[in-house]
Amino acid sequence: MSEMKPREKAFDEAFCSSCGETIKKEAEICPKCGVRQRRVGGSSMESQNWLTCLLLCVFLGYFGAHRFYAGKIGTGVLMLLTGGGCGIWWLIDLIMILTEKFADSAGNVISRNG
Ligand SMILES: [Zn+2]
Repeated sequence: MSEMKPREKAFDEAFCSSCGETIKKEAEICPKCGVRQRRVGGSSMESQNWLTCLLLCVFLGYFGAHRFYAGKIGTGVLMLLTGGGCGIWWLIDLIMILTEKFADSAGNVISRNG
């Protein structure tokens, strides 16, 4: 019975987009089939939600909440300390998110389509 159980992925693992093998989330290339993993438009579990990011920026942007959300901790803290760069930085980020140019710490643009 136990052998029938499908393999469950750990919190730091993902499934290969080609062969379905369990690989590390950080892995760029599957060690089994050698196919490069696509990151853009991945599962909703891993990609940041555009609307959440936008709302965080609108309401908590002065505290850099949207940057913490995107995994940009360093600049998030900086933004927190400067009050969103006196509002200017906050405004720029807001426009970046609205025009879908705001990227997370991994460099993936947070878009409406996830
Ligand atoms: Zn593979």
